[in-house]
Amino acid sequence: MPIVYVGLGSNRGDKEKNILKAITLLKENGQKILKTSSIYKTKPYGYKEQKDFLNAVVKLRTKLNPENFLILCKKIESEIGRKKSFRLGPREIDLDILFFGKRVIKNKKLTIPHKDLHNREFVLRPLREISPNLIHPVLKKRIAKINNVIIGEKKIR
Ligand code: ADP
Ligand code: MG
Repeated sequence: MPIVYVGLGSNRGDKEKNILKAITLLKENGQKILKTSSIYKTKPYGYKEQKDFLNAVVKLRTKLNPENFLILCKKIESEIGRKKSFRLGPREIDLDILFFGKRVIKNKKLTIPHKDLHNREFVLRPLREISPNLIHPVLKKRIAKINNVIIGEKKIR
């Protein structure tokens, strides 16, 4: 059964409660949580004029396929009360699929590994805490060795 890493973020409402609630809902929906990172306070990324975030990463085992796992993430987001916002804008809770086993997926609904994770310190930091030896299946690098590389602009170091 695949191992999945999920990035959790919240900057609206009771942020810590939202993150803990998302983890509880993952469990209640049959996901086996293997590890949970610390919760980090981080500055907003992209759109800066919003409150600080809390971020965490969980490692879990799932029986779902990636499409159904995404559907579960969206269900949990709406259950915690995520309202329509804009991309990178404020949100009660955001669940991003960072890795799904070693799978590489790119279609309209899903990009796995998450397309921007190597640029996001708020994801890399909790990932480094729980799985420094995890290999990024596209960059072929250990998480511990990834420091804000930019793939799209061909600036890889
Ligand atoms: P963002 O997290 O980029 O601010 P959203 O959470 O609103 O944006 O997600 C927008 C869409 O991104 C989702 O509806 C989903 O179809 C798509 N998506 C693509 N790849 C992923 C992924 N790895 N994890 C979660 N959503 C993804
Ligand atoms: Mg998201």
